[in-house]
Amino acid sequence: MSDIPFIDLAAQQNRIRAKIDRRLDEVLRHGNYILGPEVQQLERELAQFSGVKHAITCGNGTDALLLALMALEIRTGDAVFCPSFTFAATAEVVPCLGATPFFVDVDENTFNLDPNSLRLAIGEARAIGLRPRCIIPVDLFGLPADYKQILEIAENEKLSVLADSAQGYGGAFHGQKTGSIGDIATTSFFPAKPLGCYGDGGALFTNDDHIAEVVISYRFHGKGADKYDNERIGMNSRLDTFQAAILLEKLAIYPDELSRRNKIAGRYSMGIKNDCIQTPFLPNGYKSAWAQYTLKAPDSNSRSIFMEALKKQGIPSVIYYPVPLHKQTAYRKFPRCSDGLATSEQLATQVFSIPFHPYLSESLQDSIIDVINNTMQQ
Ligand SMILES: *Cc1c(COP(=O)(O)O)cnc(C)c1O
Repeated sequence: MSDIPFIDLAAQQNRIRAKIDRRLDEVLRHGNYILGPEVQQLERELAQFSGVKHAITCGNGTDALLLALMALEIRTGDAVFCPSFTFAATAEVVPCLGATPFFVDVDENTFNLDPNSLRLAIGEARAIGLRPRCIIPVDLFGLPADYKQILEIAENEKLSVLADSAQGYGGAFHGQKTGSIGDIATTSFFPAKPLGCYGDGGALFTNDDHIAEVVISYRFHGKGADKYDNERIGMNSRLDTFQAAILLEKLAIYPDELSRRNKIAGRYSMGIKNDCIQTPFLPNGYKSAWAQYTLKAPDSNSRSIFMEALKKQGIPSVIYYPVPLHKQTAYRKFPRCSDGLATSEQLATQVFSIPFHPYLSESLQDSIIDVINNTMQQ
């Protein structure tokens, strides 16, 4: 075996290529490249898909987080609570507004924000003179965060919840779709995300009319009723009409792709029977979007042995994420929970993700399962 893709975007493109070509032709014909009719249609369809009042597209998933924090009026002196075991974009936007990211540990089984660590962090942020304002739970690898506990804590402490569903869009928490959970939810259409376009793209979701109005203004230079009447200091962050056209066709097959993802994850989890390996934990009532299928080895040495064994068969695997944010150069200076974030540090030495996409053949799944089952076993 050779050249096995970690994520196969070509298989999906083959399926919808003719429809995408027609969509792109249509954009070339009408020529509304910025906020054209495809963008409006996509925003309506995304809102409907998520079961939320407003879906507002923008330039990328990082801008979506930034626009959300701007709409929540996050500023200097505010503490924004983020998991340390995540992609940098989650925390990156916080210092952009002069606020302080406060790092919280994650749960060893779900890999998502640990509510106990969060409770501790909120008190500790106050003790060092910060104003707790917002929590950014992340749906890591596609699994929704523990929204029941996080929303409870947010309500008690009067904090906003900004759900980073860049990896979890399409998942659900006890019947409620990600995108509709929290004061604002965001996603990314980066090509490798579960719902990706062919470039950069992102979106925000909210049921709050005021937040929606402000975000629509901020993404377009802070415009008022007229685009040359600037009411706020905003930015330029819009989804290209071409990308919206592509996303319309991708969204149409997304429910089918999500069920394929679920089926493949189920097969992996049934097939992998190796005492050294922990398969992804899916709590009752959670529906994952399966952005990644991530395994947990006992330690960094055994992880290398598994990744080597896969590599020998031409099977790629990737470590998401090798260094938790609080250990990284740009983020070391920010405060963190005094419990030490031991789980984030531990997971960074243990986890690795194996090839995963909706078009992964059963025979390839079985080969991957075999390699894992036959490694480090008697
Ligand atoms: C990808 C990602 C983002 C950022 O999305 P971009 O579109 O690449 O800017 C933010 N948060 C998480 C958890 C992500 O995985």
